[in-house]
Amino acid sequence: MTQKLKYERPFIKKMNTGLMNKFGTQNEAETVRDINGVTVKSLVKEFGSPLFVLSEQQIRRNYRSAVRAFKTRYPKVQFAWSYKTNYLNAVCSIFHQEGSWAEVVSGFEYRKALNNGVTGEHIIFNGPQKSTDDLLLAINNNSLIHIDHFDELYTLISLCEEQNKKPRVAIRVNMDTGVYPVWDRFGFNYENGQAWSAITKVINSGKMQLVGLHCHIGTFMLSTAAYGIAAAKMSELAIQCKTVLNNPIEYLDLGGGFPSTNTLKGAYLPGVDTVPSVDDFAEVITTTLLNAGFKHEELPLLILESGRVLIDDAGYLLGSVVANKRLSDGRRSLIMDFGINTLFTSLWYDHKISPAQDASQHIDNVVLYGPLCMNIDVIRESVNLPAMEPGDNVVVHKVGAYNMTQWMQFISMRPAVVLIDENRQPHLIRKAETLEYLEMPEVSPVHLQQVKTV
Ligand SMILES: *Cc1c(COP(=O)(O)O)cnc(C)c1O
Repeated sequence: MTQKLKYERPFIKKMNTGLMNKFGTQNEAETVRDINGVTVKSLVKEFGSPLFVLSEQQIRRNYRSAVRAFKTRYPKVQFAWSYKTNYLNAVCSIFHQEGSWAEVVSGFEYRKALNNGVTGEHIIFNGPQKSTDDLLLAINNNSLIHIDHFDELYTLISLCEEQNKKPRVAIRVNMDTGVYPVWDRFGFNYENGQAWSAITKVINSGKMQLVGLHCHIGTFMLSTAAYGIAAAKMSELAIQCKTVLNNPIEYLDLGGGFPSTNTLKGAYLPGVDTVPSVDDFAEVITTTLLNAGFKHEELPLLILESGRVLIDDAGYLLGSVVANKRLSDGRRSLIMDFGINTLFTSLWYDHKISPAQDASQHIDNVVLYGPLCMNIDVIRESVNLPAMEPGDNVVVHKVGAYNMTQWMQFISMRPAVVLIDENRQPHLIRKAETLEYLEMPEVSPVHLQQVKTV
């Protein structure tokens, strides 16, 4: 029997694939068959699709090279893993094994860090909302509490009186670093004197030890100069604490914010070619601190709370083609089995996407849709890919940061996460969600428990 060929109405379109355009060359169609030596096909077969995959080797490499960038330039450096970037316990444990402290921004993240075996003194508690219970827990575990606003400061003072404890605290400082809009909603402002006023209030209360100063000037920051400005202003405050208030500052925490090599939507050139390296940031920050006027033996400990830059390129999302579809204007589109609820960062990045099997030489410009019944569910508005059939797989690159914490159970459930260890062994570190899991917290009133279908 002869099989009938599929017929598609012909259309005429400008040929522009493979050429250099204002966004550079496009070579995304290159096939990627494995992650750290484990084939995409075997991973999808064993753990399902879509599937998040993390590379332990890459996480450790990123961490060690970031530590090296700072430690080769400055004597006292400590990293604290930003939990909200990826708080899967297996991931946090890799960072803690490497020597990283924990940086948390909520009571639940704080408790997660304790459960991961981090000692209280090595937990940095940031964020604008800390409940009384959270603060009491942090006080009694001798954690570093970073005060965000005056109301929190007054609450802390009364809790300290009540508990008769003198916790180690820092204040969060915000400032103009030449990058706009300024993140002035967190912490106390440097330029208008609010930060200095908070410092004097903490010290004059006599109820806390002001041991540090903290800032986190933004995220995916492309300006190394902004960190130079931040380091200079923080140093100036620290030196004034010592000279004016006789309160030496033990550490300066410059937060996170270093970019990964993802390409921001609308960017003219790909991230890999434009984003400054951790070495570039380290050079500016450490040079500023070393020249700020501290006596050598009084140089503060430098704390960094990097998230994104340490894990983004260690994460992949494997997915499958659901269907091919021709749009009314002639463009080709693909419906994938993962949407923006799973890949939240596709709202900010043009994620690189590779086919995972042999493909034809013919590359076409396609729109990549997710499976949600929602118009905003677009993974890439325009990407060059070879023809693919339902069931074919793709690899989405650099998805390790913020997706496995911001993903939403919406229409579809959250997929499994696998970690490939340094011996190329895949480990399931989070199961795919099930209907049973999803309904566990639900409670139906008795009169609604056995509704007959009409
Ligand atoms: C989110 C966050 C970080 C990590 O930021 P990245 O941009 O991912 O490096 C660090 N510190 C604080 C206070 C944060 O809120």
